[in-house]
Amino acid sequence: MARKVSVSSDDAVSWPACCARCGAKNELVASSVSIGSVRSVGVGFGGMVLNSSMATLNYPVCRAHAAGLGLAAVVTRRTGGFRFLRGFIYLLAIPGALTFAVIAARWLGLLAPLRNDQAMPMPFVAMLAAAIAATAYLIYAFRALPVRLVGQSKDTVTLRFSNDDFAARFVAQNRRNLRAVPWWKKFVL
Ligand SMILES: [Zn+2]
Repeated sequence: MARKVSVSSDDAVSWPACCARCGAKNELVASSVSIGSVRSVGVGFGGMVLNSSMATLNYPVCRAHAAGLGLAAVVTRRTGGFRFLRGFIYLLAIPGALTFAVIAARWLGLLAPLRNDQAMPMPFVAMLAAAIAATAYLIYAFRALPVRLVGQSKDTVTLRFSNDDFAARFVAQNRRNLRAVPWWKKFVL
């Protein structure tokens, strides 16, 4: 069971001195997670002006579990652009999976070839295959991250811990900064 904890974003948080994934105490390195949004885009004299608010936290993980977390943290980020990209990928992956199921069924002879059976254009098939691969990677990335930032308000951030023991240690060390988790956040994955 994953656990969610909200903390004040004005104060520094204190991390337990162990891996957020497995609890190992040796060879710890920092891994970062961010959350944020671009609030407005304007065009000023100096070019484009982005008014964004990003919160970044560095948490400890052991060397073995640090591998691949950087990219996983980026692609799972709850930021407009990445959310849009993920939605687009999922949208392609669903018809993609159906397409490959039909191709496989035909190949196995389970489905009779349709009368007007036209070969699908390769770039289209390649795009569907890429969407399926990207979806598989995203599922892996969401599962692999021991700590994710799942919410942000003006003065708090909500963290999601996959390791309950680590979450309990974190709560014990940051009692002063804890804030109530918004009730609806409990339903957000
Ligand atoms: Zn570890």
